[in-house]
Amino acid sequence: PAVDPSALMGRVIEACRDVIVEQEAYLCDLDRAIGDGDHGTNIRRGLDALAAEQHRLAAMPFREAMSAAGTILVMSIGGAAGPLYGTLLLEIGRGLTADPSARFADVFRQAVAAVARRGRSALGEKTLLDVLYPFSDELMDHTRLSLLAGKIQGFADMTIDMKAMRGRASFLGARSIGHMDPGAASCAFLCATACRELAE
Ligand code: ADP
Ligand code: MG
Ligand code: MG
Repeated sequence: PAVDPSALMGRVIEACRDVIVEQEAYLCDLDRAIGDGDHGTNIRRGLDALAAEQHRLAAMPFREAMSAAGTILVMSIGGAAGPLYGTLLLEIGRGLTADPSARFADVFRQAVAAVARRGRSALGEKTLLDVLYPFSDELMDHTRLSLLAGKIQGFADMTIDMKAMRGRASFLGARSIGHMDPGAASCAFLCATACRELAE
């Protein structure tokens, strides 16, 4: 059946906001253990801002909506995570504009690389990149979204045993080991929710 892309955009935003509202306190708890305890609040502000603008976003071509959403996230999330989540969406928008025929997985991969440059960060440093990279690999491998949704929490779980090398958690050194990275956790909730909505 034909899907109305703007209705789909609204549904993804609503579903992402719902999961973040549900997990806000948990994400703050994770950040309290190895950071300053505000990650849930920061991401909640971002999703509230997207939800407030969802009709304007849904009326735009997808690539423009991604860029506009990225700008909204940079302005609303703040902290370390805001520019990183913002870069991801801004770069998806930029990539799709530069080459409208590009495969989404390729554009996403380039956007993840841009997040890594922005954070001066790499795989295995206990950040949201530890979810974004394996997620991107699965997209490159054409993994079905319904199947992929079920794998994503496992990516965030992998950060528990990592030592933080970037952001506030890195100040703890080896004491950061044993805790899940809050940014990886929020990223897992958001990616899994988007996959589930798009798979339906
Ligand atoms: P802040 O640390 O400013 O309070 P948040 O709590 O909102 O910001 O976000 C913290 C998350 O941001 C971390 O859990 C980590 O995933 C991510 N992060 C922080 N610094 C970097 C970085 N340099 N590169 C990649 N991710 C980072
Ligand atoms: Mg924080
Ligand atoms: Mg903070």
